[in-house]
Amino acid sequence: MKISIITLFPKMISGFFEESIIKRAVEKKLVEIKVVNLRDFAIDDYGTVDDRPYGGGVGMVIRVDVVYKAIQNLKSKISNPKVKTKILLTSPRGRLFNQRKAEEYSKIDQLIIIAGHYEGVDERVNEFIDEEVSIGDYVLTGGEIPAAAIVDSVVRLLPGVLKKDEAIKQESFNIKGKKLLEYPQYTRPEEFKGIKVPKVLMGGNHKEIEKWRLDKSLQETKKRRPDLIQK
Ligand code: SAM
Repeated sequence: MKISIITLFPKMISGFFEESIIKRAVEKKLVEIKVVNLRDFAIDDYGTVDDRPYGGGVGMVIRVDVVYKAIQNLKSKISNPKVKTKILLTSPRGRLFNQRKAEEYSKIDQLIIIAGHYEGVDERVNEFIDEEVSIGDYVLTGGEIPAAAIVDSVVRLLPGVLKKDEAIKQESFNIKGKKLLEYPQYTRPEEFKGIKVPKVLMGGNHKEIEKWRLDKSLQETKKRRPDLIQK
């Protein structure tokens, strides 16, 4: 898989991909991550990429022609027309990102993510992208954190990225194929300040453990996220 992030602030995110699991995935060539500086597509030698909003108002808006050039540049490097590409624009107005979306994107060959900044991006960019994606109902200063969050959740789903692929077969939002939260996890010590690890987990009866975990997943989801059960 190939992921490109178009941003005005490459340094804000490139470090994120140089650590831990994502770094190993890149080293193992399971994913190629490219951080593209939008400034490279500026309209002039001063590096202009934005302008004041028509109709007035505070802040600056990123120009459509600049973003278009960056997208076209990335697209022109794809020689195989069969390559499945998706272009995302990060935006608080977008559809809320979730685990299902991460699964969907993990099956794409090439993902291009545009990180907005300032007041956002000229609306006409929507003509050249596939989806506007939000990571939550709050406003961040830029799309770099949303882009990093999307990349992180997608890359860990790629085959071979996690040491044990089972980890992603049973985790929150995917417990036995259902949108349930994960059951409680415990490790040593067996007892801490009088709080004991549930006996069933120590007994070695895998059927019982599985049943206990599913029951707990249901209970925890009902308690913490009843909306998931209703869905
Ligand atoms: N004026 C915009 C509005 O009211 O919706 C907010 C712009 S925000 C300050 C700048 C950029 O940060 C956005 O263009 C987007 O790329 C990114 N951004 C901010 N919050 C986000 C969120 N919750 N999800 C995804 N992207 C977000």
